[in-house]
Amino acid sequence: MTTILQQLYQVQTRIAAAITAHQRTPDSVQLLAVSKTKAASSILTAYQAGQRQFGENYVQEALDKIIALRDDCPEISWHLIGPLQSNKTRAVAEHFDWVQSVDRLKIAQRLNEQRPADLAPLNICIQVNISQEANKSGVLPEQVAELAEQVSQLPNICLRGLMAIPEATDKVAQLTAQLVELKQLFDRMTEKYSTVDTLSMGMSNDLELAIECGSTLVRVGTAIFGTRHA
Ligand SMILES: *Cc1c(COP(=O)(O)O)cnc(C)c1O
Repeated sequence: MTTILQQLYQVQTRIAAAITAHQRTPDSVQLLAVSKTKAASSILTAYQAGQRQFGENYVQEALDKIIALRDDCPEISWHLIGPLQSNKTRAVAEHFDWVQSVDRLKIAQRLNEQRPADLAPLNICIQVNISQEANKSGVLPEQVAELAEQVSQLPNICLRGLMAIPEATDKVAQLTAQLVELKQLFDRMTEKYSTVDTLSMGMSNDLELAIECGSTLVRVGTAIFGTRHA
Protein backbone atom coordinates (compact mmCIF):
# COMPACT_ATOMS: atom_id res chain seq x y z
CA MET A 1 0.00 0.00 0.00
CA THR A 2 2.70 2.45 1.03
CA THR A 3 4.57 1.49 -2.07
CA ILE A 4 1.69 2.31 -4.38
CA LEU A 5 1.27 5.69 -2.71
CA GLN A 6 4.98 6.47 -2.88
CA GLN A 7 5.15 5.42 -6.51
CA LEU A 8 2.04 7.41 -7.37
CA TYR A 9 3.61 10.53 -5.85
CA GLN A 10 6.84 9.83 -7.72
CA VAL A 11 4.96 9.66 -11.02
CA GLN A 12 3.08 12.87 -10.19
CA THR A 13 6.42 14.50 -9.44
CA ARG A 14 7.90 13.30 -12.75
CA ILE A 15 4.90 14.72 -14.62
CA ALA A 16 5.14 18.06 -12.82
CA ALA A 17 8.89 18.26 -13.51
CA ALA A 18 8.41 17.50 -17.20
CA ILE A 19 5.67 20.14 -17.45
CA THR A 20 8.06 22.71 -16.00
CA ALA A 21 11.07 21.58 -18.02
CA HIS A 22 9.21 21.80 -21.32
CA GLN A 23 7.19 24.93 -20.60
CA ARG A 24 3.87 23.15 -20.79
CA THR A 25 0.84 24.80 -19.17
CA PRO A 26 0.28 23.66 -15.56
CA ASP A 27 -2.40 20.97 -15.39
CA SER A 28 -2.18 20.37 -19.14
CA VAL A 29 -1.13 16.74 -18.63
CA GLN A 30 -3.34 14.24 -16.86
CA LEU A 31 -2.40 10.89 -15.40
CA LEU A 32 -4.19 7.68 -16.34
CA ALA A 33 -3.28 4.93 -13.85
CA VAL A 34 -3.10 1.66 -15.79
CA SER A 35 -4.35 -1.03 -13.44
CA LYS A 36 -4.52 -4.09 -15.71
CA THR A 37 -3.76 -7.35 -13.85
CA LYS A 38 -3.77 -5.44 -10.54
CA ALA A 39 -6.26 -6.02 -7.70
CA ALA A 40 -9.23 -3.80 -6.96
CA SER A 41 -7.62 -3.07 -3.59
CA SER A 42 -4.66 -1.44 -5.37
CA ILE A 43 -7.04 0.77 -7.33
CA LEU A 44 -8.80 1.73 -4.10
CA THR A 45 -5.47 2.76 -2.56
CA ALA A 46 -4.69 5.07 -5.47
CA TYR A 47 -8.26 6.39 -5.49
CA GLN A 48 -8.08 7.31 -1.83
CA ALA A 49 -4.95 9.32 -2.66
CA GLY A 50 -6.93 11.31 -5.23
CA GLN A 51 -6.31 9.39 -8.46
CA ARG A 52 -9.50 9.34 -10.54
CA GLN A 53 -8.72 8.03 -14.03
CA PHE A 54 -7.90 4.33 -14.45
CA GLY A 55 -7.06 2.34 -17.57
CA GLU A 56 -7.80 -1.33 -18.19
CA ASN A 57 -6.94 -3.61 -21.12
CA TYR A 58 -9.17 -6.65 -20.74
CA VAL A 59 -12.93 -6.19 -20.73
CA GLN A 60 -13.97 -9.01 -18.40
CA GLU A 61 -11.24 -8.28 -15.87
CA ALA A 62 -12.22 -4.63 -15.92
CA LEU A 63 -15.93 -5.33 -15.45
CA ASP A 64 -15.22 -7.34 -12.31
CA LYS A 65 -13.29 -4.39 -10.83
CA ILE A 66 -15.77 -1.77 -12.00
CA ILE A 67 -18.56 -3.62 -10.22
CA ALA A 68 -16.47 -4.32 -7.10
CA LEU A 69 -15.47 -0.66 -6.76
CA ARG A 70 -18.76 0.94 -7.70
CA ASP A 71 -19.71 2.02 -4.17
CA ASP A 72 -16.25 2.84 -2.82
CA CYS A 73 -15.00 4.77 -5.84
CA PRO A 74 -17.97 6.59 -7.36
CA GLU A 75 -15.82 9.19 -9.12
CA ILE A 76 -13.62 6.85 -11.15
CA SER A 77 -13.42 7.45 -14.85
CA TRP A 78 -12.74 4.09 -16.53
CA HIS A 79 -10.75 3.98 -19.78
CA LEU A 80 -10.50 0.94 -22.01
CA ILE A 81 -7.03 0.99 -23.57
CA GLY A 82 -6.82 -2.57 -24.90
CA PRO A 83 -8.21 -4.08 -28.13
CA LEU A 84 -12.00 -4.31 -28.34
CA GLN A 85 -13.87 -7.10 -30.17
CA SER A 86 -17.40 -6.60 -31.52
CA ASN A 87 -18.94 -9.08 -29.11
CA LYS A 88 -17.75 -7.04 -26.11
CA THR A 89 -18.94 -3.60 -27.20
CA ARG A 90 -22.24 -3.69 -25.28
CA ALA A 91 -20.60 -4.27 -21.90
CA VAL A 92 -18.07 -1.55 -22.68
CA ALA A 93 -20.72 0.95 -23.80
CA GLU A 94 -22.59 0.30 -20.57
CA HIS A 95 -19.70 0.46 -18.10
CA PHE A 96 -16.81 2.55 -19.39
CA ASP A 97 -16.37 6.32 -19.70
CA TRP A 98 -13.69 6.22 -22.38
CA VAL A 99 -12.48 3.88 -25.13
CA GLN A 100 -9.01 4.87 -26.34
CA SER A 101 -8.51 1.92 -28.67
CA VAL A 102 -11.03 2.57 -31.47
CA ASP A 103 -9.50 1.75 -34.83
CA ARG A 104 -12.51 0.97 -37.02
CA LEU A 105 -15.86 2.52 -37.71
CA LYS A 106 -17.82 -0.64 -36.99
CA ILE A 107 -16.71 -0.66 -33.35
CA ALA A 108 -17.55 3.02 -32.95
CA GLN A 109 -20.98 2.47 -34.49
CA ARG A 110 -21.76 -0.40 -32.15
CA LEU A 111 -20.63 1.63 -29.12
CA ASN A 112 -22.83 4.48 -30.33
CA GLU A 113 -25.88 2.25 -30.67
CA GLN A 114 -25.29 0.48 -27.38
CA ARG A 115 -24.49 3.50 -25.21
CA PRO A 116 -27.33 3.76 -22.67
CA ALA A 117 -29.44 6.90 -23.12
CA ASP A 118 -29.08 7.94 -19.48
CA LEU A 119 -25.27 8.12 -19.71
CA ALA A 120 -23.17 10.93 -21.16
CA PRO A 121 -21.76 10.26 -24.63
CA LEU A 122 -18.88 7.77 -24.58
CA ASN A 123 -15.49 9.47 -24.96
CA ILE A 124 -13.39 8.03 -27.73
CA CYS A 125 -9.83 8.27 -28.92
CA ILE A 126 -8.73 6.88 -32.25
CA GLN A 127 -5.77 4.56 -31.87
CA VAL A 128 -3.01 5.26 -34.39
CA ASN A 129 -0.42 2.70 -35.46
CA ILE A 130 2.21 5.41 -35.49
CA SER A 131 5.15 3.04 -35.88
CA GLN A 132 3.35 1.30 -38.78
CA GLU A 133 4.24 -2.13 -37.40
CA ALA A 134 2.48 -4.97 -39.20
CA ASN A 135 0.77 -6.73 -36.31
CA LYS A 136 -0.15 -3.69 -34.29
CA SER A 137 -3.62 -2.28 -33.62
CA GLY A 138 -4.52 1.17 -34.83
CA VAL A 139 -5.24 2.99 -38.06
CA LEU A 140 -2.42 4.26 -40.21
CA PRO A 141 -1.70 7.99 -39.95
CA GLU A 142 -3.25 8.66 -43.37
CA GLN A 143 -6.52 7.01 -42.27
CA VAL A 144 -7.05 9.18 -39.18
CA ALA A 145 -8.91 12.05 -40.86
CA GLU A 146 -11.58 9.86 -42.47
CA LEU A 147 -12.29 7.82 -39.33
CA ALA A 148 -12.38 11.00 -37.22
CA GLU A 149 -14.95 12.52 -39.57
CA GLN A 150 -17.16 9.43 -39.36
CA VAL A 151 -16.84 9.08 -35.57
CA SER A 152 -17.54 12.78 -35.02
CA GLN A 153 -21.03 12.32 -36.45
CA LEU A 154 -22.15 9.65 -33.98
CA PRO A 155 -24.50 11.27 -31.43
CA ASN A 156 -23.68 9.06 -28.45
CA ILE A 157 -19.95 9.30 -28.99
CA CYS A 158 -17.70 12.22 -28.10
CA LEU A 159 -14.53 12.34 -30.19
CA ARG A 160 -11.74 13.36 -27.80
CA GLY A 161 -8.49 12.69 -29.64
CA LEU A 162 -5.76 10.21 -30.45
CA MET A 163 -3.93 7.40 -28.67
CA ALA A 164 -0.80 5.56 -29.71
CA ILE A 165 1.65 3.02 -28.39
CA PRO A 166 4.93 3.90 -30.11
CA GLU A 167 7.50 1.30 -30.98
CA ALA A 168 9.36 -0.26 -28.08
CA THR A 169 12.77 1.09 -29.03
CA ASP A 170 15.84 2.57 -27.36
CA LYS A 171 16.38 4.86 -30.31
CA VAL A 172 15.27 8.21 -28.94
CA ALA A 173 15.33 9.95 -32.31
CA GLN A 174 13.03 7.34 -33.83
CA LEU A 175 10.64 7.46 -30.88
CA THR A 176 10.63 11.26 -30.91
CA ALA A 177 9.79 11.33 -34.62
CA GLN A 178 6.75 9.13 -33.99
CA LEU A 179 5.54 11.24 -31.07
CA VAL A 180 5.97 14.43 -33.10
CA GLU A 181 4.00 12.97 -36.00
CA LEU A 182 1.18 12.04 -33.64
CA LYS A 183 1.16 15.58 -32.25
CA GLN A 184 0.85 16.97 -35.79
CA LEU A 185 -2.11 14.70 -36.52
CA PHE A 186 -3.65 15.80 -33.23
CA ASP A 187 -3.18 19.52 -34.00
CA ARG A 188 -5.01 19.07 -37.30
CA MET A 189 -7.90 17.44 -35.44
CA THR A 190 -8.17 20.18 -32.82
CA GLU A 191 -8.59 22.74 -35.62
CA LYS A 192 -11.56 20.82 -36.93
CA TYR A 193 -13.35 19.44 -33.88
CA SER A 194 -14.06 21.49 -30.75
CA THR A 195 -14.39 18.33 -28.62
CA VAL A 196 -10.85 17.13 -29.33
CA ASP A 197 -8.52 17.84 -26.41
CA THR A 198 -6.73 14.56 -25.66
CA LEU A 199 -3.42 13.30 -26.97
CA SER A 200 -2.83 10.03 -25.16
CA MET A 201 0.84 9.07 -25.37
CA GLY A 202 3.58 8.28 -22.91
CA MET A 203 3.95 5.35 -20.51
CA SER A 204 6.18 4.51 -17.52
CA ASN A 205 9.42 4.66 -19.47
CA ASP A 206 8.85 7.56 -21.83
CA LEU A 207 6.42 9.93 -20.13
CA GLU A 208 8.91 12.82 -20.03
CA LEU A 209 9.59 12.61 -23.76
CA ALA A 210 5.85 12.29 -24.48
CA ILE A 211 5.13 15.41 -22.40
CA GLU A 212 7.91 17.25 -24.23
CA CYS A 213 6.22 16.27 -27.51
CA GLY A 214 2.75 17.46 -26.45
CA SER A 215 1.02 14.60 -24.64
CA THR A 216 -2.05 15.60 -22.59
CA LEU A 217 -2.60 12.18 -20.99
CA VAL A 218 0.10 9.75 -19.93
CA ARG A 219 -0.85 6.11 -19.30
CA VAL A 220 1.27 4.74 -16.48
CA GLY A 221 1.10 1.22 -15.08
CA THR A 222 4.38 -0.28 -13.91
CA ALA A 223 5.76 2.91 -12.34
CA ILE A 224 2.68 3.14 -10.07
CA PHE A 225 1.62 -0.45 -9.40
CA GLY A 226 4.87 -2.34 -9.95
CA THR A 227 5.83 -5.05 -12.42
CA ARG A 228 3.00 -7.12 -13.87
CA HIS A 229 3.36 -10.85 -13.35
CA ALA A 230 0.34 -12.03 -15.30
C1 LIG B 1 -0.04 -1.64 -20.22
C2 LIG B 1 -0.25 -0.39 -21.00
C3 LIG B 1 0.24 0.84 -20.54
C4 LIG B 1 1.09 1.00 -19.30
O1 LIG B 1 2.39 0.58 -19.55
P1 LIG B 1 3.55 0.70 -18.42
O2 LIG B 1 4.79 0.54 -19.19
O3 LIG B 1 3.29 -0.37 -17.43
O4 LIG B 1 3.43 2.06 -17.82
C5 LIG B 1 -0.07 1.97 -21.28
N1 LIG B 1 -0.81 1.90 -22.40
C6 LIG B 1 -1.29 0.74 -22.86
C7 LIG B 1 -2.11 0.74 -24.10
C8 LIG B 1 -1.02 -0.44 -22.19
O5 LIG B 1 -1.50 -1.60 -22.68
